[in-house]
Amino acid sequence: MSSNETLVGQTLRELKELLVSWNEPAYRGDQLARWLYRPVASIDEMSNLPVELRDRLAQEMVHHPCMIQTVRQSIDGTRKYLLALGDGQLIESVFIPETDRATVCISTQVGCQMGCTFCATGARGFARNLTAGEIVDQILQVALDVGSIPTNVVYMGMGEPLANFAALLKSIEIINSPWGLNIGIRQITVSTCGLVPGIRRLQEAGLGLTLAVSLHAADDEKRSRIMPINRTFGLDELLQTLHGYVRATNRRITIEYALMAGFNDTKEDARSLIRILKGLLCHVNLIPVNPIQKGIHQRPQSSEVKKFLSWLQRGGLEVSIRKERGGDIEAACGQLKGQWEET
Ligand code: SAH
Ligand code: SF4
Repeated sequence: MSSNETLVGQTLRELKELLVSWNEPAYRGDQLARWLYRPVASIDEMSNLPVELRDRLAQEMVHHPCMIQTVRQSIDGTRKYLLALGDGQLIESVFIPETDRATVCISTQVGCQMGCTFCATGARGFARNLTAGEIVDQILQVALDVGSIPTNVVYMGMGEPLANFAALLKSIEIINSPWGLNIGIRQITVSTCGLVPGIRRLQEAGLGLTLAVSLHAADDEKRSRIMPINRTFGLDELLQTLHGYVRATNRRITIEYALMAGFNDTKEDARSLIRILKGLLCHVNLIPVNPIQKGIHQRPQSSEVKKFLSWLQRGGLEVSIRKERGGDIEAACGQLKGQWEET
């Protein structure tokens, strides 16, 4: 299935081109876009399109590239979705309701090539990139299930967004456009393990989204042990790139730091972190690690997490502890692997 054959994932311009090539007036493209990027389950529901056009669309095109296979709900209201793609691959998305917002966490790849040692997605290997349609449709599938379009989108599911750059950019255009999902650019966060060329390209794209960077260690030796990408783009180069990003965009960066007991949670680690982040416009998000395997990368006691937080605060950093959501259904950070055992 090529991405062209799916409707969700096409820009307004592409939809107009398609319909004009079918000898339809261009404004039908506007009408179609309006239906596509609302929670609408079937082409039949697109009531202002002529029946013959609806029939042809249904016959020749795929409407939604993702299909909900299973949903699990956490006691805290978080919902985790296992979605099947056209070729049978499986991905996961997470819906996180809060009092003032509703966030969807979406995937960009089936698996991940980056091999971070603490992450279930990385441990599962890599199959392929998602298309823009498969990225956007995760939000629509969730919206169909919960009844409304979410307010926020975080690219923090399976995969490395900046390793699938073209599809990432196209999906952001569709999510952000008034003719698309119309979610504000400030409500979109892209998280990366630190792909320096991708960060530069994102900077050049000039979008006002929030960039989140998974740091997790404050010296090269430690970071390389848990994040192989650090052997290609070390901390000096990464931090220089982040300073450039802030200068060019004026946007505050989120630094993600997964605390692992006895590995990166000592006073010395806090000191190193304060030193390397000095002068960078950023907010540090501490995530007590979600252990994926027994033995390595254990979660610190909450007293240790608080201690680490206060060291960073005293060092002048802006910092918070990420509230864990959906841990009971393996929907928390790093637990997505696209394979569900029956429970
Ligand atoms: N590939 C991107 C985005 C997906 S991961 C990235 O790495 O940034 C989303 C966040 O969850 C990242 O900060 C990632 O490092 C973190 N994460 C991965 N495994 C984790 C785990 N076991 N516990 C806590 N956070 C984890
Ligand atoms: Fe990939 Fe991110 Fe997991 Fe690393 S943390 S393996 S980059 S999904």
